[in-house]
Amino acid sequence: MNAEAKTDIRALSLDALRAFFMEQGEQPFRGNQVYEWLWKKGAHRFEDMTNLSKPLREALEERFTINHIAVDQMQRSADGTIKNAVKLHDGLVVESVLIPTDSRTTACVSSQVGCSLDCRFCATARLKRMRNLNPDEIYDQVVAIDRQSRLYFDRPLSNIVFMGMGEPLMNYPNVMKAIEKITSEDGLGMSPKRITVSTSGVPKLIRKMADEQPRFNLAVSLHSAIEETRTRIMPFNEKMPLSELREAVVYWYGKTRSRITYEYVVWEGVNDKAVDIRALLDFCKAAPCKVNLIEYNPIDDGEFRQASPEAIDRYVQALEGAGVTVTVRRSRGKDIDAACGQLANKSQE
Ligand code: SAH
Repeated sequence: MNAEAKTDIRALSLDALRAFFMEQGEQPFRGNQVYEWLWKKGAHRFEDMTNLSKPLREALEERFTINHIAVDQMQRSADGTIKNAVKLHDGLVVESVLIPTDSRTTACVSSQVGCSLDCRFCATARLKRMRNLNPDEIYDQVVAIDRQSRLYFDRPLSNIVFMGMGEPLMNYPNVMKAIEKITSEDGLGMSPKRITVSTSGVPKLIRKMADEQPRFNLAVSLHSAIEETRTRIMPFNEKMPLSELREAVVYWYGKTRSRITYEYVVWEGVNDKAVDIRALLDFCKAAPCKVNLIEYNPIDDGEFRQASPEAIDRYVQALEGAGVTVTVRRSRGKDIDAACGQLANKSQE
């Protein structure tokens, strides 16, 4: 039997694993043991599962594979940021980033290989969407970064942001399953409060997610609160307009009571005028929120240019004046193309 024909054992639930062992005439608790090897101990080989007999390990080997990711290449930035090129079992590559600060270590993980959306300022958008990541491929990125955090910074991972490659809501079920595993006691047991899902803004799916009353945080990449401007820089906005996004964030807040973060880059000549600021202030009235002004990381020919410090300061003043919390985020890992919007598998070219 070749590897393609075998089932990825990590697609099985605990119950399914227990059932498998019962079918084999074994005790169901063997399923718990294997589950623990796969998820808690991160085993990549059946032969490492030392509390199972050799014939049992061989029976597993015969039926299943353990698809796992492998950190193929690791780059470290002068500021401590680590970018990993992560090879998937089928040879495709995504990137995940470890971002250390004084008080926390954040994992920035990918949810898709490439992206189906078309934000014109983002390097990942130029790769076509190849496929969605499986829940375990998302989970494994977190495990890998947690290990790096312990190894290089002597502390466990503290936060996770879905701001790597891809649009998490376009891979909704797998992202939710991964989060479930990351937060569950038989996975990593992390608090959902330390997880942020960042979306370009898919209104229908924001509503669907809100209905499940999640306890993680939501960030929306807004970038403009004017319909035409947003469509210009994020063409998918034509089909999923701001008007619907606004209603969706109101719905989200109504269901979760969790404040939304808007990510916002200010570009010269695109959204640096008073009218842009007014539109954002108005959008912020829809639901409790904070605004994260992020630095633009140039990706190419200079079509987009970060606005002047004065323009950014006008945003800060106006938002603060209106009582909206605003932070200005400096980019990390720029020297290794690990910053927002720069993930594009350069190492693979
Ligand atoms: N698809 C999701 C998550 C990935 S992008 C989303 O759009 O939210 C993570 C963040 O980086 C988003 O806010 C995105 O708008 C921003 N971003 C993309 N390209 C960028 C660039 N070149 N410079 C700075 N931020 C960028």
